[in-house]
Amino acid sequence: EQILGESIHNFKPVAWEDIAGLESAKSTFLEAIIMPLRRPDLFTGVRCPPRGVLLFGPPGTGKTLIAKSIASQARAKFFSINPSTLTSKWVGEAEKLVKTLFAVAAAHQPAIIFIDEVDSLLSKRSGNENESTLRLKNEFLIHLDGAASSEETRILVIGATNRPQELDEAVRRRFVRRLYVPLPTKEARLKIIEKLIRQVKHSLNLSDVEQLAELMDGYSGADVDSLCRYASMAPLRSLSPTQMEVVKSHELPAVTIEDFKEALKVI
Ligand code: ATP
Repeated sequence: EQILGESIHNFKPVAWEDIAGLESAKSTFLEAIIMPLRRPDLFTGVRCPPRGVLLFGPPGTGKTLIAKSIASQARAKFFSINPSTLTSKWVGEAEKLVKTLFAVAAAHQPAIIFIDEVDSLLSKRSGNENESTLRLKNEFLIHLDGAASSEETRILVIGATNRPQELDEAVRRRFVRRLYVPLPTKEARLKIIEKLIRQVKHSLNLSDVEQLAELMDGYSGADVDSLCRYASMAPLRSLSPTQMEVVKSHELPAVTIEDFKEALKVI
């Protein structure tokens, strides 16, 4: 519980369809990761799946979403750890937590251990910093190897990073499958916008949405998400505090294309 950023108790499943675009990543994972976790009896020997997967690419492109979705499809328990919590522990404490984490994951197989910003935990430089980070790194390597060497163990470690070049070479080698998660295409941005605006009253037509998707060239999925959230607040922002107290939700005006254009200036 001490190291799980998002406890297994409040994990919300993510459907494949919730991830816009990234079609080739999805099909790769279905064959290489998800089916083997579901049907380990079919994926033995030379078919044995990789136990370490690295997702790399710009921030906010859906790496966490993919990891959660893999866990959901594979019906695996999801353990998400936050490196900053680990590295702030007392000397020796962090290693014990890593050991415990893998033991708990082993007791809940199939399990996925997701390490966001894995570069901050297992970087090239951390070895030079001090002995305790070096020991922590070694502890991780031992467990990664342990998971990889046993066909029975159904623990998958997914690392995510925006700075793959910062990773220690020994660590990078353990992440046998490495997948680049790019910025969304126009079609993917369009899907994200459509999904979000469905949740509010709006007056946008398809060509408005297409135009917005075009204008958001270079935005990450997280940026598109922030922009839609900002624009969706416009009808509320126009209310006085007194009106806000009494207004009924169905009386709110629709979100307009102008609200989105305003949001584009801010986000
Ligand atoms: P970071 O590197 O900053 O940790 P990340 O790559 O893990 O980011 P996520 O946390 O998965 O990114 O994405 C952030 C949010 O952006 C998601 O909760 C979702 O709302 C939105 N998002 C990003 N990419 C997509 C996508 N491909 N489809 C749908 N939503 C997306």
